[in-house]
Amino acid sequence: MSPVLPPGVNAAGLDRALKAFARIVGAEAVFATDEDRDTYADKYALDEARHHAAAGVAPASAAEVQAIVRLANEHKVPLWPISRGKNLGYGYTAPVLPGSVVLDLSRMKRIEFDAQNGTVLLEPGVGFYDLYDYLRANKLPYWLSVPGNSWGSVIGNALDRGLGYTPYGENTTKLCGMEVVLPDGDLVRTGMGAMANGAGWGLYRYGFGPAWDQMFVQSNFGIVTKANLWLMPEPEQVKGIDVEMDAIEDLGPLIDAIGALRREGVLQQSPTIGNWLRAANIVTTRDEWVKDGGPLTDQTISAIRKKFGLGWWGVSLRLYGRESVTNATYPILEQAMAAIKPMAVKPALWRRGDPIAPNQGGWMGVPMTFPMQNANWYGGRGGHIGFSPIMPQDGRAALDQFRRNYARYKEYRLDPQMSFAFGERHLINVNAVLLNKDDEAFMKRVDPFMRAMIADSAAHGYAEYRAHIDYQDTVAGTYDFNSHALRRLNEKVKSALDPNGILAPGKSGIWPAAYARERGK
Ligand code: ADP
Repeated sequence: MSPVLPPGVNAAGLDRALKAFARIVGAEAVFATDEDRDTYADKYALDEARHHAAAGVAPASAAEVQAIVRLANEHKVPLWPISRGKNLGYGYTAPVLPGSVVLDLSRMKRIEFDAQNGTVLLEPGVGFYDLYDYLRANKLPYWLSVPGNSWGSVIGNALDRGLGYTPYGENTTKLCGMEVVLPDGDLVRTGMGAMANGAGWGLYRYGFGPAWDQMFVQSNFGIVTKANLWLMPEPEQVKGIDVEMDAIEDLGPLIDAIGALRREGVLQQSPTIGNWLRAANIVTTRDEWVKDGGPLTDQTISAIRKKFGLGWWGVSLRLYGRESVTNATYPILEQAMAAIKPMAVKPALWRRGDPIAPNQGGWMGVPMTFPMQNANWYGGRGGHIGFSPIMPQDGRAALDQFRRNYARYKEYRLDPQMSFAFGERHLINVNAVLLNKDDEAFMKRVDPFMRAMIADSAAHGYAEYRAHIDYQDTVAGTYDFNSHALRRLNEKVKSALDPNGILAPGKSGIWPAAYARERGK
């Protein structure tokens, strides 16, 4: 099959570009067969005909990235950088603009650890499992904050603002100084790394003057080839409580109680309240409960919850640190939960030196993949797509949001995997919309459902913190103050940094002038 070509480039032009790339990285690191292209496809796509990459190219160093970027400018071929490309539910490895060449950084796997300060300088190909193995092999007493799918890279996760569950759960806030290849091939270091002999690169974020790290997060302004990340010292103790709430309405008081503890700083981790399906879909499948794809009734939900001892909502709260300190704060947590009358509570305790149970790894820095079992809920070829608006930590607002969402799930006959993830002051209403890719009629309902959800949320002032490549223009469009002033600013910066528009056109709804006509396609 001939590859999808980028706009304005013919087959011979693409071929010339790929041959030029091969002279930099070697022919074995240019991937342009049908099978290669298929590897870079979004396996969870709603429509598999969209977002095809033309090829992949995998440099092994920042110097090779610079050379590829310069060639991409010369040949006017757009690049889509990925670290390990396990961005499941948001587009996997696939580019927004069809015909882009995936700039696959997964071969860049260097790790430099500063044991005194607990910071690590990482290349983008370093996965959570790689870093975990490195910490263990070198007996370094530090923990990661891993996402539910820990298959990806540490940097890629922080660059898409992915979440973990420890006190360091907002990984993007633990970035401290980066090395970046700009769209013209120049190489910059941010923060203290801007000094040629900078001693505090991983320690002080800002350097002097404007601080740029977040400019390279969820943007298409540069390719991150190194970043410093702070890691959490292994605590003496993790003490906490698993809480199940019986009724839908219990969501409101649960959010208000946790939000207060979070703001006060009693609770420093980022807990996530999940609904029954978020817990059930990793231990059972739909066909064990419902015949022939029929509706999921309230009776069935009750039966599933009963079998697995699940509330309508569940949350795990954890305190980290010295034994004396966590022992002192634990009763505060226990009382706050008792006050809202949970259906069940289960205390949890880990002390340094104890083994870590596999299902507890998420709270204790151990990479995991079992939550990806959710893609199997319907059977057949599964998947999920993310819908994750930001909202205030307000119980009543969250319950209203839940009711609107739930009505939409019922209207479109989709099963709801929902959660509410706490940040320091905000809440993210994370929905993993589960897919059944073998059911054509089902799949047709998902896109209008997503659009309805985005519009409903936007009408209440809530917009997504992260979006699948299908919806990045739509979501960017909901940030509409002063006739989309933010988009105009982003695109002014984009034109200044990337006049040929070769870097990730369309990422986060930011289109360079060269491809402006592709917006919304
Ligand atoms: P992971 O390796 O954790 O699975 P991805 O590689 O899928 O993460 O990255 C998530 C998103 O972040 C990508 O779709 C891409 O847009 C962006 N991204 C990833 N790595 C880089 C990088 N090194 N520089 C710039 N943007 C990146």
